[in-house]
Amino acid sequence: MEKIKRFGLLGSGISYSLSPHIHGVVYEALGVNATYELVDIKVDMLDADFVAGLVDKFDGFNVTIPFKEKIIPFLDCVDDNALRVGAVNTVLIENNQLIGYNTDYSGFIYSVGLLRIDKLESAIVLGTGGAAKMAVQALLDLGVEKVIAVSRTGRTVKEARSMQYDQLEVEHPSSDILVNATPLGSVAHLNEMGVTSELLSRQRHVFDMIYKPEKTKLLLEAESMGIPCINGLDMLVVQALEADKIWLKGLTSADFMSISTKIKLQIK
Ligand code: NAP
Repeated sequence: MEKIKRFGLLGSGISYSLSPHIHGVVYEALGVNATYELVDIKVDMLDADFVAGLVDKFDGFNVTIPFKEKIIPFLDCVDDNALRVGAVNTVLIENNQLIGYNTDYSGFIYSVGLLRIDKLESAIVLGTGGAAKMAVQALLDLGVEKVIAVSRTGRTVKEARSMQYDQLEVEHPSSDILVNATPLGSVAHLNEMGVTSELLSRQRHVFDMIYKPEKTKLLLEAESMGIPCINGLDMLVVQALEADKIWLKGLTSADFMSISTKIKLQIK
């Protein structure tokens, strides 16, 4: 009998995650005998012994907050793209070797494509964490000339021009796309957004990486101003499918489209 494949999500405080549901839909649709479970641990629990335990138990796992950078030293090999982004969200375990990838990157690029932006020359990325760094790299790869990363605290993103929020209002108030890569607007920060309505009105497109709630304050305001916008659900679904492509190696483009439509209908 075919061995059950075991996958999971490593993170801290992740009981809210939609990933077990998303991957469950994929395995059912493909007729694959696989499970996907949460590995919810405290930050200080990640060490070599813990990772060895993951190797014994899993065929692969996703990685989320706060381990996307912390997992890297425990891996045997990291794919070039994940190295450039500096974060790993997908690990394949093969012959006891751990290989790291970043599929958030593909999900981000796919979502930006959905906005069908005719001229993408400037971008504002709110936040300086793992998702913001990935977004900056992806936007540069898309050929965006001016990418600004915005921080409350003066933290910087190496590849971008970095500034604080008050400086943004004065020096760079408009862009072709504003990306929210902070938790503002999520369930823990409902009715909050990082920028003023005045600054928001000067953006041509808005991408909020949050998917719960479906429409954050930022997206509701952008929509009321007639600004084309998108939330983080497509990114979440595409990063999950890209991870399954790496783990299962048999996911075709046709599977990809039909499964992603099915998942989005179920989650809405
Ligand atoms: P992270 O590493 O914790 O970084 C978040 C950044 O946001 C921080 O570096 C911080 O930058 C800023 N920030 C934190 N709290 C804030 C607050 N109260 N007000 C304003 N800014 C604040 O998290 P991450 O992994 O980059 O994720 C960021 C967001 O993207 C999360 O909401 C996450 O759920 C979402 N995300 C979605 C997907 C998807 O598939 N849709 C994938 C990855 C991430 P400063 O301290 O420099 O201001």
